[in-house]
Amino acid sequence: MPHGLIVKALSGYYYVLPEDGENMMSVQCRARGIFKKRGESPLVGDRVLYGLTENGEGTVDEILPRTSELVRPQVANVELAVLVFAVQEPALNLQLLDKFLVHTESAGLETIICLTKQDLISVDEAVHPDTQQQSQVWSGSNSKSGSVVATETSSMSLIVQLYEKVGYQVVVTSAKMGIGIQPILERLSGRISVFAGQSGVGKSSLLNAMVPGLQLETNQISMKLGRGKHTTRHVELIRLQNGGLVADTPGFSQLDFAQVEEAEDLSSCFKEFRIYAAECKFRGCQHQHEPGCKVIEAKEQGEIAESRYDHYLHFLTEIKERKRRY
Ligand code: GDP
Ligand code: ZN
Repeated sequence: MPHGLIVKALSGYYYVLPEDGENMMSVQCRARGIFKKRGESPLVGDRVLYGLTENGEGTVDEILPRTSELVRPQVANVELAVLVFAVQEPALNLQLLDKFLVHTESAGLETIICLTKQDLISVDEAVHPDTQQQSQVWSGSNSKSGSVVATETSSMSLIVQLYEKVGYQVVVTSAKMGIGIQPILERLSGRISVFAGQSGVGKSSLLNAMVPGLQLETNQISMKLGRGKHTTRHVELIRLQNGGLVADTPGFSQLDFAQVEEAEDLSSCFKEFRIYAAECKFRGCQHQHEPGCKVIEAKEQGEIAESRYDHYLHFLTEIKERKRRY
């Protein structure tokens, strides 16, 4: 029985792309009744066994084990998340970036950070940030909400440094100028990915720049047409020339920490905390004010960025409040 991958689900049909790669046409399939009886349903991204019927259609016969299952968008087997943040318009919000990172870590996804709309800042500013802006990025809060908003565009290179030190690949791009597209394409090769980020940061524009002929609506166009974006309810995987597949709708628009229930889970979602947290004096240390806390020590020695630590505390409070409510 042939193997395939579901690239689209619509009106009770599943569109299965044969895995042999020779035929790029997908086969329109119904799911076998057995799935309904078991309370299962195939998802976009599922690797399946399918059979062909006489009318040229097919049936999904078996779903192969999933490596992951995202809720938003509902796609199975996603391996990589590209977190898209604009350097400007809207202003780069590091607290939101850290929140997205908690989500991708808790979902076990590989993550790359994409800072886009690079063309909106001048190269000179980006490469030579002055010290005042430097301290702004590293010292955490500059607003009451505790969020770090990189108001000055020139702090971009420091943000790149910060997250590279944590251990993420950071790619600076401009969909408008066609900059930084190739390194992202390389990472997307041969697997299923999702782009995530606030509305208007430039996700659709980036995807359009990556896929010849793709014309996802961007804000500008949809405003001209007087209708909202992403009005379609179905998810579809966009095929890249290098065999990569990308969900055509953005991921995790609502970030409510539903997956992260315990303080320890949160701490482990801050990648750079892990080695220090393992050495904390108390088991289950929440890195707030416990004696012998190695995370706090690392923060004080500049090994952990203050903005990251501040956001950790902020999210910890959020999680505890959430627990109290339910
Ligand atoms: P999405 O909501 O994240 O999919 O964002 P869109 O791709 O729809 O882009 C939102 C707006 O930002 C549109 O007006 C785009 O033209 C603009 N935009 C996207 N990428 C860039 C870029 O690299 N540079 C500039 N200057 N504008 C961009
Ligand atoms: Zn600790």
